[in-house]
Amino acid sequence: MHPTLLNSREPEAHMRPVQVPCGWIEVVCGSMFSGKSQELIRRLRLAKIARQKVQAFNSALDIRYGRNHIISHDQVKIPSKPVKAAREILDLIEPDTQVVAIDEVHFFGPAIVEVCETLADQGKRVIAAGLDQDYRGQAFEATSGLMGIAEFVTKQLAICMVCGNPANRSQRLTQTKKRISVGAADKYEARCRRCFERG
Ligand SMILES: [Zn+2]
Repeated sequence: MHPTLLNSREPEAHMRPVQVPCGWIEVVCGSMFSGKSQELIRRLRLAKIARQKVQAFNSALDIRYGRNHIISHDQVKIPSKPVKAAREILDLIEPDTQVVAIDEVHFFGPAIVEVCETLADQGKRVIAAGLDQDYRGQAFEATSGLMGIAEFVTKQLAICMVCGNPANRSQRLTQTKKRISVGAADKYEARCRRCFERG
C-alpha cells in the first residue's frame, strides 16, 4: 500500500467521487419464437424482486395482444407503456427509475439507439429486446445499432419448424412486402439458414 494511504481511512468529503450509478445497455435479440420477450420479462421480474424501480415501454405499433403490457407468446405479461416514437421514452422516464425495458425495439427505427445511449449515460440499466433480422433475413438497423453500443448482447435462437435445427430467421408465411407486419404463429415460422426462403 502507498505510505500516504496507511493512515487515511476516509477521504475528505469534498474529495470523494460523486456516486453516480453506472448505467449499461443489454440487448436481447433473435428471431420470432426465440423467447425474447420471456427473457425480458424474466430479467424484469428479478429487478422487481430486488425492489428496483422499473419502467417498461413497447411500441404502439405492436397490437398483437394488447397495448399496455409486454406479453410473451405463452401469455406471461408485465405492464408497459406504449409509445409511438422513441424520443417519447425520454419524456416519460421518472428520475428515480433504475431499470428501463423496451420491447420490440426494431419497431422504433434507428432513433432508439440514441435514446438508449442517453438513458444508460444517466445511470440506468437499459434492457432492449427485438428482432435482429427482418423477414428477408436483413438486419434491422435499430437492433444492430444497439448491439454495436451495448455492454451485453444475448442472441436467442428458436428451433426450425421445418427441420429442428437452431433457427435465427423469421419466415413470413403471407405475401405482404411491408417490412413490419405484426403477427405471430399465423404469419411467421422460425427457420434455420438452410430452410429459410428469402421473400
Ligand atoms: Zn431448418
